[in-house]
Amino acid sequence: MTRVGVLALQGDFREHARSLRAVGAEAREVRTPQELQSIDALIIPGGESTTIARLLLAYDLFEPIRTLGANGFPLWGTCAGAVLLADEVQGDLDREPLALMPMTIDRNAYGRQIDSFEAELGASTLNGSQAPFPGIFIRAPRIREVREDVEVLIEHTTELGESEPVAVRRGPLLATTFHPELTSDHRLHAYFVESCVQGNSVGSRAERVQP
Ligand code: GLN
Repeated sequence: MTRVGVLALQGDFREHARSLRAVGAEAREVRTPQELQSIDALIIPGGESTTIARLLLAYDLFEPIRTLGANGFPLWGTCAGAVLLADEVQGDLDREPLALMPMTIDRNAYGRQIDSFEAELGASTLNGSQAPFPGIFIRAPRIREVREDVEVLIEHTTELGESEPVAVRRGPLLATTFHPELTSDHRLHAYFVESCVQGNSVGSRAERVQP
């Protein structure tokens, strides 16, 4: 069974674990560098990116996760987690991001908490049904630019009719600015497990570079 770790320092890690179990994966909470060694992939959940960035350093997890990501280990960042994966962050992160995804992301760029919103997203790139994906955006960041070979999986059309990326992928790395773990639609969790983790060429746990 695919073992997916969920970084459990702050944020909505329990909801990710529930969604992972719903798609038949094993979910493990990760709080130590040792716990990184027995998983096939890691999710960095939503929460507060400034807090998670500080805790990553305090728990000695920043460098090990950065090294894993740079060596082809599957990582998925949602919302605050997506901020941490980016290599360029606008809007005062006040710590270094993991800088694994070549993209510019702007923290809290839709406005304050009160400007959080839900939107139906076209999800034709995901496996399975063509039904729209329920996008929950909570003080979400905005992806301003993707670079190199970053692939846009899902776009959101704003009230002004502009399309902007809200789910992007680069090989085994996935970033979404919304919260699939807060819905009962588990297609993105299934996509991550089947496509980014099981379809990853790096190989099994045992063969991988150790953090
Ligand atoms: N505003 C948060 C941040 O930049 C992200 C919010 C979220 O993860 N729901 O960290």
